[in-house]
Amino acid sequence: MIGGGITGAGVLREAARRGLRAALIEQRDFAWGTSSRSSKMVHGGLRYLMVAHLKLTRDSVRERERLLREIPGLVDQLGFLFSTYRGKRPGRWSMNVLLTAYDLLAGRWNHRYYPAHEYTLLVPGIRPTGLKGGAQYGDAVTDDSRLVFRVIREAQQYGALALNYVTADNLITKKERVCGVAVRDAVSGESAEIFARVVVNATGAWADRLRKQVSGGTDIRPLRGSHLIFPYWRIPIAQAIGLMHPLDGRPVFLLPWEGATVVGCTDLDHDQDLDVEARITRQEVDYLLKMVDYQFPSLGIKCGDILSTYSGIRPVIGRGALDPSKEKRDHSIWVEKGLISVSGGKLTTFRLIALDVLRHVTRFIPELTVKDRGGTVFHMISSREFPTGSLDSSLRQRLAGHYGEEAREVVKFARQGELERVPGTDTLWAELRWAARAEAVVHLEDLLLRRTRLGMLLPEGGVSILDYVRSVCQEGLGWKDDRWHREVYAYRSLWRECYGVPGTNEKF
Ligand SMILES: Cc1cc2nc3c(=O)[nH]c(=O)nc-3n(C[C@H](O)[C@H](O)[C@H](O)COP(=O)(O)OP(=O)(O)OC[C@H]3O[C@@H](n4cnc5c(N)ncnc54)[C@H](O)[C@@H]3O)c2cc1C
Repeated sequence: MIGGGITGAGVLREAARRGLRAALIEQRDFAWGTSSRSSKMVHGGLRYLMVAHLKLTRDSVRERERLLREIPGLVDQLGFLFSTYRGKRPGRWSMNVLLTAYDLLAGRWNHRYYPAHEYTLLVPGIRPTGLKGGAQYGDAVTDDSRLVFRVIREAQQYGALALNYVTADNLITKKERVCGVAVRDAVSGESAEIFARVVVNATGAWADRLRKQVSGGTDIRPLRGSHLIFPYWRIPIAQAIGLMHPLDGRPVFLLPWEGATVVGCTDLDHDQDLDVEARITRQEVDYLLKMVDYQFPSLGIKCGDILSTYSGIRPVIGRGALDPSKEKRDHSIWVEKGLISVSGGKLTTFRLIALDVLRHVTRFIPELTVKDRGGTVFHMISSREFPTGSLDSSLRQRLAGHYGEEAREVVKFARQGELERVPGTDTLWAELRWAARAEAVVHLEDLLLRRTRLGMLLPEGGVSILDYVRSVCQEGLGWKDDRWHREVYAYRSLWRECYGVPGTNEKF
């Protein structure tokens, strides 16, 4: 498997569960690509239903239900509200039709409509002018990079190998068929060749690069989606809120996540170099701020309220639509000279995408059987199964969902006071210690941006906790002082350029 996002991780796990000897390589960190930069929703996607993508919506809501059952604490229920305004679409009746179809596809009745006077109690501060009311429905939210990591850890428990910071440079072919890859380790600089019966190219937005080596294929249209993160107290919402952007009528949202509020997202052609980490532009910041100000005029939200920003590249399969938002979002698979490439799709449907890839793998490994038997797919662990000390039930569930069977270890290795939350977030101090000790952290950014999300949830990238982080890194990773200083310098530069607000982050 080439690519350590949710797609590669999903295929790795499904392959290893079926007894295949499977290995995954990722050029940067696990989930470094789009899979740590999504909108964090595990959902059917009402917008897909609006444009009649029935199959994608049905598959997604069914997977949502499965994930909610199997990994609570990592994939959790979240109420969504959609405000309706006089003279604006969608109105009450079209929302009702849409949500009825949505619930029918999921097999669960989970929506209702509130008139304006009740709706404003659910969302204090919402723009009152022209408000007719709003619809409420149920979806789910996750920590996307932790989801990738959980899937990779399970694959490893089935015997798979997963390496970060290893790049696939060139495909190796024999008799016109791909039989391996020449790889390079970014840390040691060493090169090697890996041979396999099947090579899967799960490199998302980068997929055409490897495809070009065998077929010249260029189907990916990279679209950038950017988000803002605010401290929860500045936009205190208990449920997600969807609305149509007042400027262009695109669906946009505000979402409570990990003790903060996420606002997103844009959808623009991304014509920059894919090797340069994606970042938000000033125009995108202004576009999203305009939406917040429209929906919550009384909050007086300003640019200076933003905690952090992030951008992801959607690997959409270009079918020539003028408007990027009109391109279809389902996945595609190409089999070219034995190379199986997969791109597109959603975080939510990663398991179904993985099964689809494996069905193509059976052409080359006929003894493999790929049946979706409908049983449990995650190793489920009850939050009652590990010692908890002072942890409340929601934190126990968080640990069980995020770490599966390793939740016990996270608790076991916690020092005094580390089973407390890092102030202003839901993350425990113990999670930092565990990640540094056991979760393949190579750089400081891996720890603060993907194993935990503290770099996005704390002011100025988490500068206030760096002394503590230094102690866990020096102990868990053996970093000497000069390595620590280099890591901090690199992290601060990256944060300024890719996670801050353009033009305003000189202080960090
Ligand atoms: C803005 C935005 C919001 C989204 N919101 C949602 C949402 O709310 N819910 C949802 O379900 N889906 C959402 N999605 C879609 C979802 O995030 C993506 O479909 C999914 O993350 C893609 O995963 P992937 O593994 O295919 O790609 P990626 O996560 O990008 O992984 C590909 C990996 O391949 C690596 N790679 C590339 N070239 C090489 C090489 N030569 N050697 C080794 N490694 C290589 C890259 O470094 C990268 O990490 C969103 C997408 C975007 C952009």
